[in-house]
This record gives sequence, C-alpha cells and structure tokens, in this order.
Amino acid sequence: NREIHLASRPQGWPTADNFRLVETGVPTPGPGQIVVRNQYISVDPYMRGRMNDVKSYVPPFALDAPLDGGAVGEVVAGGGDGINVGDTVLHGLGWREYALLDAGSARRVDPDLAPVSAYLGVLGMTGLTAYAGLLDVAAMRPGETVFVSGAAGAVGSMVGQIAKLKGAGRVVGSAGSPAKVERLTALGFDAAFDYHDGPVRDALKAAAPDGIDVYFDNVGGEHLEAAIGSMNLHGRAAICGMIAQYNAAEPPAAPRNLALVIGKRLTLRGFLVGDHGGLREQFVTEVAGWLREGKLSYDETIVDGIENAPDAFLGLLRGENLGKMLVRL
Ligand code: NDP
Repeated sequence: NREIHLASRPQGWPTADNFRLVETGVPTPGPGQIVVRNQYISVDPYMRGRMNDVKSYVPPFALDAPLDGGAVGEVVAGGGDGINVGDTVLHGLGWREYALLDAGSARRVDPDLAPVSAYLGVLGMTGLTAYAGLLDVAAMRPGETVFVSGAAGAVGSMVGQIAKLKGAGRVVGSAGSPAKVERLTALGFDAAFDYHDGPVRDALKAAAPDGIDVYFDNVGGEHLEAAIGSMNLHGRAAICGMIAQYNAAEPPAAPRNLALVIGKRLTLRGFLVGDHGGLREQFVTEVAGWLREGKLSYDETIVDGIENAPDAFLGLLRGENLGKMLVRL
C-alpha cells in the first residue's frame, strides 16, 4: 500500500517537495470496518487551504500523515452497515491505494448506473456544488443571463450546462486557454472568453452587453470585480471559490468596486456544498436523467498512479485539467 503524506506546508505555490510517497502495509479491518482498494481519488482546489495551518471550515491536514479527500473503490475485506466485499463505495480517505474505514462512513454507489469516476465529479461533490450553487444559492430563473468563471473546470462546466438546461437566457463562461474556450462553445455556452486575453471587465461587457443577473464565482479577484461591474439591478452571486488567491501570499486588492452592491441591491452569497445535502437525491435524479438523454456532457482529466497524485494536484492549480481532475489507481 502506498500513500501520499504532507511533508511540509507550502508557502505560496506548492511544489513536489511538499509531498512524500510512503509505503505501508495493506490494513486489516477490525469489527465493523472495511478495507477499500481505491480506484479513483479526487484532487480538489479546497485541499490547498487545508495545507495551511489555519482554522477553517475543515481542519488542516497533519504533517507526516496521509492527506485525505474523496475516493471511490472496491471493498476487498471486512464489512458492516450493509456494505460487503465486492461493493463499490464512495468515501473520504483518498490519497492512498488502500483505505481502512468504518463501514458506516462509506456510501455504496452503483457501478452499473455510471462509471465509478462519475461519483467524484458529475454525480458527486462537484456536480452537487454546481447544482446547489446555481439553483439554490443564486436562485437562477429562466431567461436570466448567467456568468460563470472557471467555466471549463469540474464545477464550472456543470454550472453553464445546467443553466442552459434550466432555461437561462444567455450563459457566458471564462477559462484559461483557447482550447477550453472552444470546449465551452461546444458544451452550449452562448459566449466564452480566455481571461488571459485582456481585462476580464472588457471581455465580460462584450460577451454580455445587457449585463448579467447571476454570477457563479469560482475564481474571485479580478473576475469578481468584473462581475460586480456587469451585474444588473438585484443581481445575485453564488460565491463558490476564489482559486485566484489560494496560492497568494498577500490578499488581493480586488474587488475595488464593492460599493456598487448598494446601489444595485446585489446579493453576494457564499456557500458550502456540505450544507446542501438535502438536494442530493433531486440532484442525482435530474443529472442522471440528463446524462442518459445525452443532454449533459462531462469531461475528466485522468492522471495514472498514486505516485503522480501530487502532480495531478499541482496541475489542477495550474489549470491543466478539462473538467474533473482525477487520479486513477
Ligand atoms: P476546477 O476543475 O475548476 O479546477 C480548477 C481550475 O481553476 C483550473 O482548471 C484553472 O482553470 C482554474 N484556475 C486556476 N488558477 C486560476 C486563476 N488564477 N484565475 C482563474 N482561474 C484559475 O476545480 P473545481 O471545479 O473542483 O472547483 C472550482 C471552484 O469551486 C474552486 O474555487 C473550488 O475551491 C470551489 N469549490 C467550492 C465548493 C464549495 O462548497 N463552496 C465545493 C467545490 C469546489 P483555467 O485554465 O481556466 O485557469
């Protein structure tokens, strides 16, 4: 069994030196426990925050101990709580080949319903984030203009497509490369731009000349400032993430136009997907239906091997992924 430990806390951008590959034995289950051979593990932007030793909504990762995070795999030993050897389960002990956990903290998933990797993305945490953030937090209504940043990523690509499926009038996305912009158009976005091409404010004004009603923020900083500038009266923003500043040593200067919130009566609402579990059933039913009918597409970027998990994580921060970044073991 091999696992990835946090060797040191990154200052600014993480590097390969912050991680260590460690060999241990395959664990043996105690009563009520299971051993899972992980097939896919998730790397996610929020993990960067957990590498800092600061108080947050999730505790920091410990040094010289395995990292953790979403994973799916097959139960190879033990059992309990209705989970048996041979079942495929979703659980929270990624970053390792074999996970030992209480059966009660794993959730069985159906490998015949969807490829198992989907339970970490489109039918899992990032999919629910998009669904809940757009429909619940921002309360998007048919006919509205929606702007989403990080639009070619796991969350963003779902936000744009769900907005279209739910009757948005116009959907605009921003992403970090020409290939990603092309992909957004293929996914049905009405307009898309590469934020490296010039000020986001100008690109957004050109893409949504009549302003935006909903902003789904994955990026923060300059994107949030531009969105505030473009928002129509009573506009709403779901503040999901601010990846532009996760590796910053200093807090960003933007948004400098926050006072516009007053006159435009804007709502900027932060949220955590963990608070929206009540929507899960509705979300899975609706999204699985769209997938079956071919109305929704999802991308995955897959890196092979536990030893390459740190590279996958670093690549995610650098934007090397289209859709959900996953490590296959
Ligand atoms: P993505 O699949 O979107 O991957 C991250 C992407 O961020 C990269 O592909 C890159 O794409 C983009 N990026 C990196 N640096 C910058 C930058 N400086 N400016 C603009 N874009 C940048 O990740 P997820 O879909 O998993 O997560 C998206 C966001 O949602 C993150 O901010 C994350 O923290 C947040 N999140 C929040 C949750 C919540 O409960 N609130 C739950 C899940 C995710 P590009 O090439 O376009 O730059």
